[in-house]
Amino acid sequence: MFRPTRRALPALAAGLAAPFAAPGLASAQAYPSRTITIIVPFAAGGPTDTVARLVADAMGRDLGATVVVENVGGAGGTLGAQRTAQARPDGYTLLVHHIGMSTIPTLYRRLAYDPINGFETIGLITEVPMTIVAKRGIQANNLQELIALVRREGERINLANAGIGAASHLCGLLFQSALNVRLTTVPYRGTGPAMNDLVAGTVDLMCDQTTNTTEQIRAGTIRAFAVTTNSRVAALPDLPTAREAGLPNFEVSVWHGLYAPRGTPAEIVNRLSRALQVALRDPALVRRFADLGTAPVEQDKATPAAHRRFWEADVARWRPIIQAAGQFAD
Ligand code: ASP
Repeated sequence: MFRPTRRALPALAAGLAAPFAAPGLASAQAYPSRTITIIVPFAAGGPTDTVARLVADAMGRDLGATVVVENVGGAGGTLGAQRTAQARPDGYTLLVHHIGMSTIPTLYRRLAYDPINGFETIGLITEVPMTIVAKRGIQANNLQELIALVRREGERINLANAGIGAASHLCGLLFQSALNVRLTTVPYRGTGPAMNDLVAGTVDLMCDQTTNTTEQIRAGTIRAFAVTTNSRVAALPDLPTAREAGLPNFEVSVWHGLYAPRGTPAEIVNRLSRALQVALRDPALVRRFADLGTAPVEQDKATPAAHRRFWEADVARWRPIIQAAGQFAD
């Protein structure tokens, strides 16, 4: 027997009204009428996951809907992006991704989805500093000692990352090229599980966002050597910048954005963008971001147009760098 639940009623009403309204408008008016899924292209417990879950909760309150996170990790963040690009463009499958959206289009020459035109942009979320961190037992007391150790030990040092194109991969590459050394790379489905191994001491080094490292640094379960921004991070006031610690020109930060599959109706994209803007002003979210060394973007960046402009410029910025390095994922 067909008995609509109370939750299904608005959708049903919209469906019945549909013949009398423009199709895009009808679906947008009923939206959202069920659970929205945000795909995170890395494992649970990592920095992209943390940002996405905070945003999902706050957006859900504004939308009056449940917003859940699904982790689809692997292949440097391309699997989750592919799943989103191939999902129905109905506003119920979204993606939170990071700077990898700018590097993947050049790094991966064979993909089963269009890494740029496969998406609608909804808005930028945040920009997160990175930190150079190591297992607690590492034989170095500051960045200079770490550099000396890495130069001495070379490939005997393991460097964790979240796959080719991940922020940890880019930051690790920058670190190796700055020191002109080659380390042994250990890829994970995300830096959440990589952090577990760093705490356990089974890998030596990692470069990762403050949204994953701040609490471990404070708890003393890992060692931190530098933050990769121009100025120190308020959440970790004792941690020097790479420049202060003697590694100039080492600046990396990781931006995140919210996406929908290409073809998602503009009314829905705009509704999601408004919800994102509200979420980024949520006092609990702002406090938690600050505690993890980051902050929401300005309101005017959390829009589809600003996000698209920023992203396309960043793809163009990375393309010659990756091509000159001649390192591709395939
Ligand atoms: N921080 C990871 C990276 O290296 C991704 C993650 O696990 O969120 O890109």
